[in-house]
Amino acid sequence: MTKNALLKITKDFGSPVYVYDAEIITAQYKRLTKAFDKVKQLKINYAVKALSNISILKLFNTLGSGIDTVSIQEVQLGLKAGFKAEDIIFTPNGVSLEEIEEVSKLGVQINIDNLSVLEQFGTKHPTIPVCIRINPHVMAGGNTNISVGHIDSKFGISIHQIPLLLRIVENTNMTINGIHMHTGSDILDIDVFLYASEILFETAKNFKNLDFIDFGSGFKVPYKVDDIETNIEELGEKLSKRFNEFCKDYGKELTLAFEPGKFLVSEAGVFLVKVNVVKQTTSTVFAQVDSGFNHLIRPMLYGSQHEILNISNPKGRERFYSVVGYICETDTFANNRRISEINQGDILCFKNAGAYCYSMASNYNSRYRPAEVLIHKDKAHLIRKRETFDDIISNQIEISL
Ligand SMILES: *Cc1c(COP(=O)(O)O)cnc(C)c1O
Repeated sequence: MTKNALLKITKDFGSPVYVYDAEIITAQYKRLTKAFDKVKQLKINYAVKALSNISILKLFNTLGSGIDTVSIQEVQLGLKAGFKAEDIIFTPNGVSLEEIEEVSKLGVQINIDNLSVLEQFGTKHPTIPVCIRINPHVMAGGNTNISVGHIDSKFGISIHQIPLLLRIVENTNMTINGIHMHTGSDILDIDVFLYASEILFETAKNFKNLDFIDFGSGFKVPYKVDDIETNIEELGEKLSKRFNEFCKDYGKELTLAFEPGKFLVSEAGVFLVKVNVVKQTTSTVFAQVDSGFNHLIRPMLYGSQHEILNISNPKGRERFYSVVGYICETDTFANNRRISEINQGDILCFKNAGAYCYSMASNYNSRYRPAEVLIHKDKAHLIRKRETFDDIISNQIEISL
C-alpha cells in the first residue's frame, strides 16, 4: 500500500476509511501454515471477531481457512460467506444454552467452557461430540485486560476441575472430540506457551475419542518500532515436534488447530483520517482528526500504541503532536508523538488497524461508522459503505409526546 494509493483511496471513498491489503493477509496465513508444515493435519480457524467483514471472510475461505466464532451472528456471517458448517468452531463464553443448541443444529463444532452448560448439553444431546475449553492458568503477556488465563478468569474450565469434568462426561455418556485453550492475546514467551501446551496434552490423555487439539491464539504482532513479535517459526518447530510425539503416544493422528485473529489481519489494515484542525495550547500541539474512539477504541481501551504517519507530508520536519479525535470526551490516539509536520487537511495513516478496530466501532456521538476498502489484486474495492443518517435513525422509534 503506497502513500499515493492510500491518498487516492481517501479521494475516491472519503475519510475516515479503513483499508485492508489482501496480499498481507494471505502472506500471514501462509507464514503460519508453513511454520507448522511438519504437522500432518493442521487447521487454522480465523477468529472472526478481529475483523468480520464478509469480504474478508470470503478471502479466508479461498485460502482454505476455517473460522472461529463467538456468537451465532458470527456463525451466520460465516455461513453466508460460504464456509461449510464443519469448517466453523463456536467458542462462546457466557451465552445461553439455547444459543449453543441453535448453533449445534447448524452442524457447527461446539466448544464448551463451563461445567454447568456441559452437563446440561451432554444430558440433552449425548450423541453430539463437543470440544472443551480448558483454562491451564497460564498467563499470556502482561496486560491483564487481554489475559484470560488467570485463576479467577471467566474463561475456560479450570484444570483443577478435571475430576468433575470427567464425572460429567461419564454420567452423560457424551463424546469429547476436542480439547482447547486460549490464554489471551500477546504471547511474549514461547516457553510459556509450550508450558501451557503440556498441560493441554496432559488433559488430553483423559479422553479417548479426540479428533483435534486447539491451541487457541494470542500471537503477538509488533505495534511499536521495537515491539517483539511471536516467533512463529520457532513456535512451529517446537510445538510441531511435541505434537507429533503426542499423537504417536495417543495412537491417532490428531488435527492441530489454531484460531488467530490479530496475527492474520492486524498488520494488513490501516486507518486513514483527515486532520480537521491543528490546535496549539500552552504546552501541547493537538492534531484533531475526523474520527475518535467511536472508530478506533484500542488506544483508550487497552493503551495500545498505533504508529501514525502523515502521508500528506511524509518528508516534513518532525514535530511533537498529540493526535486526538472529535468526540466530546477524551479520545487520545497518541500523546506527544513525533510526526512529520501536520497541516489542516492532511491525511494521517494509523498502522496495525486490521484487528479489533472496525469491529469495535460504534455510533457514539451519533457519528457514522467509516467505510472499509479491500485492496485485492491491485484494485481497491469498497467492501462496506460509510454509514448515512438513515443508519443512525433506522431502529429508533419516535413516539408522539
Ligand atoms: C479473540 C479470540 C481469539 C483471537 O485472538 P487474537 O489475539 O486476535 O489472535 C482466538 N480464540 C478465542 C476463543 C478468542 O476469543
